[in-house]
Amino acid sequence: MRKKIAAANWKMNLSWKEGKELISQLIELSPTIPTAHQVIIAVPFPYLELAAQLVAAQPGYFISAQNCYHKAAGAYTGEVAASMLASVGIKYCIVGHSERREYQQETPEQLAAKLQLCFTHAITPIFCCGEPLSVREGGNPSEYVRSQLVDSLSCLASEQIAQLIIAYEPIWAIGTGKTASPEQAQEMHLAIRNYLTESYGSAIAQGIPILYGGSVKGSNATAIFANPDIDGGLVGGASLNAVEFATIIGALPQ
Ligand code: PEP
Repeated sequence: MRKKIAAANWKMNLSWKEGKELISQLIELSPTIPTAHQVIIAVPFPYLELAAQLVAAQPGYFISAQNCYHKAAGAYTGEVAASMLASVGIKYCIVGHSERREYQQETPEQLAAKLQLCFTHAITPIFCCGEPLSVREGGNPSEYVRSQLVDSLSCLASEQIAQLIIAYEPIWAIGTGKTASPEQAQEMHLAIRNYLTESYGSAIAQGIPILYGGSVKGSNATAIFANPDIDGGLVGGASLNAVEFATIIGALPQ
């Protein structure tokens, strides 16, 4: 049975004082995470170790990085390698968030290299995909997302694919307040799972958590998570509020 996951993406928000309070409030509101669930909090680099210490005694809580560099090491000032994340005990890393694809012009090849580096260092990547508004309105969203998967996952071995978490995040729904309807989201998640089944077989495809991201809130999480191929959410804005995010955690199906 695949895990149901509530993942927070703080992006470039919160001082450490605010972040620490947020995690403490969250633990107070959601102290017990069922074994079938995971809460993953993606924090900015400087907070990784501190945040990991805060959740160390909380079963079901994990800390993630929001990115890593596509090279193993070297003269890349300001970048952070997957090996460095692993060296401070980090086990998760977001790869290919649409904001990085857009603002940092991250390419599918770079994302493929990041995925490889994560696996080399026993870090589970949370691989993001999703179509822009122009494709949703005038194109073929499932074809677009399928190409994103082909372009960055093809270099991975089946055993690596089996360890992935995928986040489907339609770009038009990120931070906009617009959410894909539960039906639209389920349709895309099923298309992703069908691609995984065709390429890697049913056992692997059925084991991969596929999270939905795009304006998930306490008020819409239950309807979105109720779909058979939606295994939880990757949450930006609403994860900055402990009550909202705790409601989202509580909406994960049992
Ligand atoms: C995200 O950044 O991954 C995201 C889904 O943001 P939001 O929940 O704010 O739309």
